[in-house]
Amino acid sequence: MRYFDPHIHVTSRTTDDLERMAAAGVRAIIEPAFWVGQPRTSVGTFVDYFSSLLGWERFRASQFGVAHYCAIGLNSKEANNEPLAREVLELLPRFALKEGVVAIGEIGFDEITAAEERAYARQVEFARAHDMVVMVHSPHRDKKRGIVRSLEVARSIGFPMQKLVIDHNNEETIDDVLAAGAWAAFTIYPHTKMGSERMVELVKKYGPERLIVDSSADWGVSDPLSVPKTARLMLERGIDARAVELVTWQNALDAYAQSGQIDVEALLVEPAVDQTRLYADNSVLRGQAPRIDAGVPN
Ligand SMILES: [Zn+2]
Repeated sequence: MRYFDPHIHVTSRTTDDLERMAAAGVRAIIEPAFWVGQPRTSVGTFVDYFSSLLGWERFRASQFGVAHYCAIGLNSKEANNEPLAREVLELLPRFALKEGVVAIGEIGFDEITAAEERAYARQVEFARAHDMVVMVHSPHRDKKRGIVRSLEVARSIGFPMQKLVIDHNNEETIDDVLAAGAWAAFTIYPHTKMGSERMVELVKKYGPERLIVDSSADWGVSDPLSVPKTARLMLERGIDARAVELVTWQNALDAYAQSGQIDVEALLVEPAVDQTRLYADNSVLRGQAPRIDAGVPN
């Protein structure tokens, strides 16, 4: 089977991870802009970060046969530094409309502050004006309240619910998200939060429509193989293959292909890797023999 992991911070993962993901069938990923573990102190670091998501990281994933898309946005944590937040929001038009950007994200609430809401609302307005998809991060604490508020703000702006993906859901939030008409994504972390076992039960209870599984793997304890592992468990537990395909591939594709930035036909073709390629004169190799697959265009 092939898988789409529509939320992974692959810049913090190694090439070993990319190789393992590709071998496990992860064909496409979305890397949303987020914070980097500590607060940034100047807008220039956002410029370079957004540029790397669009440039080097896209190239690096391609060198292992993984199609890389990204989402651009100001994350909720750093929205609370309002002078910096204003400068970052000014950058949105410069980066969010580039090739390979499938959404504004991940944006939303962390501590559910007024500053977070202002940044979220402004970015949802930008997305509506440019007919974009929005990927919403939900808070770890007070998750339900954060999600309900994200839905309310988007609705008050007139944002179309079929272009809204609410992420990091659990059993307490799924009803609100599905009732609103948005997509409900679930992050599968090892040993905690939403585990694969709980995801199996949710798919059994709700069916696969508008449910999406992702890893949100980053520099913390997380698993870049969460999507294929959860798919395997679903099959073992008797969920039919079509439903598994929906929650681990097709739904994410349908949601984010609304951006017009995903060549769906090309994704269905077996990837052909050419590791002799360079990005700004840089290679992912360190003296190894390059992999050059049959079918690589000259
Ligand atoms: Zn994330």
